[in-house]
Amino acid sequence: APSGCAPLPVLGRDVTVPLVTGGEVAYAALDYAASAPALQRVWDDVAAYAPYYGSVHRGAGHLSQLSTELFENARRTVAGFLDCRDGDQVVFTRSTTDSLNLLAAALPDDCQVFVFETEHHAALLPWRGARVTFLDAPDSPEQAVRALEHALAALAARDPHGPALVCVTGASNVTGELWPVRELAAAAHAHGARIVLDAAQLAPHHAVSLRELDVDWVAFSGHKLYAPFGAGVLAGRADWLREAEPYLAGGGASRKVARREDGGVDVQWHDSAARHEAGSPNVIGAYALASACTALAEAGFGTLAAHEERLIRTVRDGLADVPEVRFLSLFGDDAPRVGVLSFVVDGWNGSHFAAALSAEYGIGVRDGLFCAHPLLRALLGGDPRDGGECGAPGAAPGGPALDAIRVSFGAGTPDEHVERFVRAVR
Ligand code: PMP
Repeated sequence: APSGCAPLPVLGRDVTVPLVTGGEVAYAALDYAASAPALQRVWDDVAAYAPYYGSVHRGAGHLSQLSTELFENARRTVAGFLDCRDGDQVVFTRSTTDSLNLLAAALPDDCQVFVFETEHHAALLPWRGARVTFLDAPDSPEQAVRALEHALAALAARDPHGPALVCVTGASNVTGELWPVRELAAAAHAHGARIVLDAAQLAPHHAVSLRELDVDWVAFSGHKLYAPFGAGVLAGRADWLREAEPYLAGGGASRKVARREDGGVDVQWHDSAARHEAGSPNVIGAYALASACTALAEAGFGTLAAHEERLIRTVRDGLADVPEVRFLSLFGDDAPRVGVLSFVVDGWNGSHFAAALSAEYGIGVRDGLFCAHPLLRALLGGDPRDGGECGAPGAAPGGPALDAIRVSFGAGTPDEHVERFVRAVR
């Protein structure tokens, strides 16, 4: 498929950018792991609906009714996409970060959380207020399972009945490597713990079945799944969500509100997903996200995975004899992965390298620490400088690698973009 994964055309393929060397070139977006371009079909669906949208849940008017139906249909579509079980809830959020923060706010009292230090900050940091055990970076999927089992067994010996939650990624946003989700879920459940899957990087590449993986919750973002920014999902078991205080307090989340004699207010909150969706929801975002789920499900992930695997091979084979290029991995260079590869180039600061790829070749990649500082520290074997944000730290040119470069691709990546990337790096 020389122009990308044929069943899934994306927007933005005709964008050209100027080069410092003169002239223009077709922009090679090789940063899908940050945000993927929207599918043409998603854009068409949104454009077809845009003239008709109205407020949801509150209006008697025809367009309000229509929008309500589309919004709730979007929820059902996402539930189908994730192979949800009876009783699971699908809550629309803003993003994976928002979803995991919502779950963190819904933890029962005295919950113990287990999380590998290799996680994206969105999965590493929301658990404020809980007791958190950070697990060391494993060097194989089997070791990850063993480390979790060991930590959970230690907890069971200490506190056999306390609630516990494990948070794991499905695919790393840095190395692209797949994590043994089913085995980690089995380990969690064997010790009475629950598990949430950060599928931000997994869901755009592989079918995610709550039933098959046997995870309690899954979180992902629309903007990495070929839909526009602003909508995400937390889906899974209803009980903790139903028992928790609403994530946001306000209209839509409340069933009944009444003043009390003593001047206070009595509130009855919804038990459904609406409990955590106060305010006017992002109807178009949910609709677009569901449209992307439908498009991916219809195309099937097999074709996309084969396309990405070929592109990974193009990069690996094309750079295999460049000694300055070192790919980053925890589980080994040949470990199964999604279309995400990170590397360092000896003698180069990652941010300078990425800037040169952009200015001289029209290639957009990501550089820095990828919002996964402890993982980069483990992979680079040093102490990467904190850039203050998730962006690029400033290393001295020619010094040791303090930051990395990430190339990632997906449905809309033509072979030519990846071939140009290989030529540019060489
Ligand atoms: N988890 C992983 C593995 C990610 O790659 C990202 C985004 N880089 C997130 C969580 C956070 O996603 P968002 O920025 O959409 O909230």
